[in-house]
Amino acid sequence: MTQHFDALILGAGAAGLMCALEAGKRGRRVAVLERAERAGKKILISGGGRCNFTNIHCRPENFISANPHFAKSALARYTPSDFIALVEKHRIPYHEKTLGQLFCDRSARDIVEMLESECRDAGVRLFVNTSIQEVSRTTEFVVRARETEFHAPVLVVATGGLSIPKMGATGLGYDLARQFGLAIREPRPALVPFILDEEDRRSYCDLAGVSADVAVSCGNQRFLEKMLITHRGLSGPAILQISSYWTPGDAITIDLAPGGDVTAALREPTSVRNIAAMKSALHNFLPIRFANRWLDLHPPNKWTNSALAELERLAHEWTLRPAGSEGYGKAEVTAGGVDTDELSAKTMESRKVPGLFFIGEVVDVTGHLGGFNFQWAWASGACAGGAI
Ligand SMILES: Cc1cc2nc3c(=O)[nH]c(=O)nc-3n(C[C@H](O)[C@H](O)[C@H](O)COP(=O)(O)OP(=O)(O)OC[C@H]3O[C@@H](n4cnc5c(N)ncnc54)[C@H](O)[C@@H]3O)c2cc1C
Repeated sequence: MTQHFDALILGAGAAGLMCALEAGKRGRRVAVLERAERAGKKILISGGGRCNFTNIHCRPENFISANPHFAKSALARYTPSDFIALVEKHRIPYHEKTLGQLFCDRSARDIVEMLESECRDAGVRLFVNTSIQEVSRTTEFVVRARETEFHAPVLVVATGGLSIPKMGATGLGYDLARQFGLAIREPRPALVPFILDEEDRRSYCDLAGVSADVAVSCGNQRFLEKMLITHRGLSGPAILQISSYWTPGDAITIDLAPGGDVTAALREPTSVRNIAAMKSALHNFLPIRFANRWLDLHPPNKWTNSALAELERLAHEWTLRPAGSEGYGKAEVTAGGVDTDELSAKTMESRKVPGLFFIGEVVDVTGHLGGFNFQWAWASGACAGGAI
């Protein structure tokens, strides 16, 4: 069987659905082809089931790309306010959790239902359980999926990244980019927990579950948020954020008392200087078990002023070299992807292959933690949807 459309969109995730509804509203006959049994599966599990759907403080600096200017145009043309207007039109209750992050009050299901309903109203055809076998281009694009051949002059690739393979992530988007001669920036797991080497694991991982407010740095990036000790290493927002800037072999620096003066009390002329006093001083900044352990492993060798100064420095510049990351199995996103030099920043269309578009996570634009990755999916999807 052969079916003809104005546009085919591969992937019914955040970017694909947004693109489909925008194009459908403009009267385009759109088909969305999805491998899974339903649309928006990743949206459903996002934000702990409540979907952190945008961030009101969204700025281009919240995105990582080989070309930091690329995302600006799409982000300026489809803003968090545009998505909030859609959410409010559907009377979906939401709240700001922290740092501008907007979450559903009830469930991420609200967002998927909203997108599905907008797509239905715009006449979009959604084909689920549709495994793509082959994509070719004659006078138009031809997508073969078992017994059906889909034809259209426009093909939008919105198949996401490689994170969480058990949710159905595939490398189809990267394969198609290569097939059509587009360059790729090496994909890598991002927003991902670190695994520590054996010695550090032995030193700290029995404290799994303990968290602390720290500042983590790698290169010239620094994030002031919570860090969590896990059974294999480190996680929590501060670690996830810095992981997007980390490459294997890099060291990270952890400030255990950002803005604090850990040894102040011990430097008082009348104060007692010993390990118990030092532990009690560090308890002001870290949970007791973590403070005790860290001091057991970093005891000052003397109680002189210069030894205290060195301890102060160490508490603000604790350096660790992660052995690795938890990889795509636990990464929230995939950094890298289709090289932005290949795409128009206004429409997401390939410069080399007219009619071929790439949107969402498959593109080399990766957001920080906090609703930015969805904002990129909505913005890039809406831009392509307005152009096809
Ligand atoms: C656990 C978790 C929590 C997250 N929480 C948040 C959050 O709260 N806020 C935030 O901003 N970001 C969050 N993210 C990141 C966010 O989910 C993604 O960045 C976003 O979904 C990317 O949208 P996309 O449309 O590009 O890709 P996806 O949403 O991944 O959609 C791609 C679609 O393509 C389909 N597909 C893949 N291969 C094929 C194929 N071969 N044939 C047909 N279909 C295919 C997939 O099944 C999928 O439906 C989270 C990610 C994870 C893993």
